[in-house]
Amino acid sequence: MGEGLKKALVGGFAVLAVGCLAYIAFWDERSGVSTSLADHRFLQDINTGKNYRVDITVKDYGPYPHKNRSTGEMSLYPTEVCYWDECGEKGGTRVILNTWRKQPEPTKCPVCGHTVRVHNPRPPGYKDDK
Ligand SMILES: [Zn+2]
Repeated sequence: MGEGLKKALVGGFAVLAVGCLAYIAFWDERSGVSTSLADHRFLQDINTGKNYRVDITVKDYGPYPHKNRSTGEMSLYPTEVCYWDECGEKGGTRVILNTWRKQPEPTKCPVCGHTVRVHNPRPPGYKDDK
């Protein structure tokens, strides 16, 4: 009886652990989806470097570039944010990646010179509440 109960308990814990992992994985996926479905996006005009906060509607989900409503040109591209050095102190510098410019070189931040990539990581110790 003692041995059987022990086995049942171990089995129960295993099921619980798997359940927790599944829950965490599900949660990660959920938060990823909610981020990509945000109702606005920061786009930059590739010609002027000006940033625009663009409200996204379903029909805006087409491929980039998007139309700049101020100039009428198809020149708006998505940006990554650089938070290194002075960029972090200013709350981030938005950068269009070189892949959008059809250039093979890694993208460098025009302000601090750090490499910027997709889902650009923040420097260690960077605090959002700066
Ligand atoms: Zn920078």
